[in-house]
Amino acid sequence: MSGIYIHIPFCERKCIYCDFYSVEDLGWIDSFVNSILREIEIFRRESDFIETACFDTVYFGGGTPSLLEVSQIERILNSLYKNFCISQDVEITVEANPGTVNREKLFSFRKVGINRLSFGIQSFFDEDLKFLGRIHTSKDAVECVKFAFESGFENISVDLIFGLPGQNVRDWAENLHKAIELNVPHISAYNLIVESGTPLYELVRSGEVKLPDEFKQAELYETTMETLEDAGYIHYEVSNYAYEGFECRHNLKYWKHENYLGFGPSAHSFWLNKRWWNVANLNKYLKAIDLNKLPIANFEILDAEKMVEEFIYLGLRSTGVDLEKFKEKFGFDFLGGEIREELIELEKLGFVEIDNFKVRLTRKGFSVCDEIAVNLISKIKYVSR
Ligand code: SF4
Repeated sequence: MSGIYIHIPFCERKCIYCDFYSVEDLGWIDSFVNSILREIEIFRRESDFIETACFDTVYFGGGTPSLLEVSQIERILNSLYKNFCISQDVEITVEANPGTVNREKLFSFRKVGINRLSFGIQSFFDEDLKFLGRIHTSKDAVECVKFAFESGFENISVDLIFGLPGQNVRDWAENLHKAIELNVPHISAYNLIVESGTPLYELVRSGEVKLPDEFKQAELYETTMETLEDAGYIHYEVSNYAYEGFECRHNLKYWKHENYLGFGPSAHSFWLNKRWWNVANLNKYLKAIDLNKLPIANFEILDAEKMVEEFIYLGLRSTGVDLEKFKEKFGFDFLGGEIREELIELEKLGFVEIDNFKVRLTRKGFSVCDEIAVNLISKIKYVSR
């Protein structure tokens, strides 16, 4: 089964840390919706390879998908049903900003078939929200989660951010406990990343804002893992935690290197060993569609070595490297040659767990995930030559 991602490139106001593609001119939403319907049709017409594919996840991300009217989301969903084989038990996620939804809207979302909500809450402290440039308050966030449950949603996720200026372990733990108290089955807890080109980047560069040092960041990450695991959440990706059975099926496709299609400006697609992405510019996107052309900016074909590297990297970051799948895909054992000794050493030091099916990171391993991945990938290259 494959996934579909829909990028909604609009935000009421840009947050200071965000480098996702979106514009603040909401007057274009209507034209955009018409264009994305056209994009889906053009893609379907030009892509025979999709004939036999079936999709069991649809993810509306952004940007702020919850800015769309329910009827606009419904039109996009209808187009997907018309053009693709969509599984009966499809997971349909909408990312929602607490400042853009109310009880009625959430109820209508549920009525049109959306069955998963991902709320960008980020913090339960209003001063943090103000600093980040969010358009909602902590009270809005708590209320919308309650309204979502009342509207019949069971699968609800909240996003939180740690590593804010001056944040200490106590404040961060309080944030985590507030999310736990809401009884949401899924929590994404991201480290604040300073992306170049964002206002936050300039503030940090000029010294106006100082972020916690790497030791403090590590302490905050440790607190996240400990607090959420103690509360019954499974740590199934570097930044993602869920009650059993509530892992985000759509995001798991990215991490398991499975096929997905992306529509909308800047959306990425991956199919077998090809990755392609749309222009990250609303004007160019609308113009391409007007000309009856797919708005693709570029593509890459992943060679065998790159596929192996990504499979290991993504596997380690999430549910582990699946040994059987690895052999089936690449024709040799992940645990062969020099890498076996390295993994045994890492296991002794408590960084990884190895069983007959998977190699996965421990809590200690997640803290240095990238270093472990780079090290193992350098060894696997040696084996595969
Ligand atoms: S609302 Fe979300 S997508 Fe929009 S600017 Fe803020 S973080 Fe980025």
